[in-house]
Amino acid sequence: MPRTKIVAANWKMNLLMKDGISLTEAICNGLPDPLRCEIILAPPMLFLKEIASLVDGTSVRTAAQNCHYEVSGAYTGEVSAEMVANVGATHCITGHSERRELFNENNPIIRAKVDAILRAGLVPIFCCGESLAIRTSGGQNAFVANQLEEGLFHLAPDVLEHVIIAYEPIWAIGTGVTASPQQAQEMHAFIRETIRLKYGNGVADALRILYGGSVKADNAASLFSQPDVDGGLVGGASLQPDGFLKIIEAACG
Ligand code: PEP
Repeated sequence: MPRTKIVAANWKMNLLMKDGISLTEAICNGLPDPLRCEIILAPPMLFLKEIASLVDGTSVRTAAQNCHYEVSGAYTGEVSAEMVANVGATHCITGHSERRELFNENNPIIRAKVDAILRAGLVPIFCCGESLAIRTSGGQNAFVANQLEEGLFHLAPDVLEHVIIAYEPIWAIGTGVTASPQQAQEMHAFIRETIRLKYGNGVADALRILYGGSVKADNAASLFSQPDVDGGLVGGASLQPDGFLKIIEAACG
């Protein structure tokens, strides 16, 4: 069965509430009809409830950009996966390279977050990807395989099948340098084969693997046409409705 593509927007720490509302309205009003893919918006945590309410009843879903792995407790400033689910979001990003680099999140922490996200009934969007130094030395496959192993491979097959993986080479995030369609396809095929070896054909063939890293209106179609690229996780280009709608069109038009 063909995999339904996904276009997910990571707004990061951008926009004020009113801008987020206008952006969401413009996206919802401009979606292709019929919509042959899944759209997920990940606004800043503070607007999540508002945006989730706004898209309620549409085919657009919402994600948190992060969560804590505990259910509740003395974790000042943190938000649990249960709280994310409680305001109507359906997904949660984890393992983003900015969280790994700027907030010292390592594979065991991300594994705990994956478990917390699943415990709350949300779908994890699990990010992985190598730095430029690792790519230059040719170590990208081993590095990404290790991220998958330590972050995801404790999951049962019927659980892993529903996780969304986002391959986001760090050298392509927010830099304007995009992986070529061939580079993206090579890594996505490698990720799928790694999952096939561990979990078998059913899981490997069902799992959606998104590409992230300077996806734009003018490169989306060539990236998304690769056989193992099941859509994109889009940062900067998700903040403008016209460009983002073109990316959606490239995935689901
Ligand atoms: C991201 O941060 O997930 C991302 C892919 O950012 P950008 O599209 O801006 O490179």
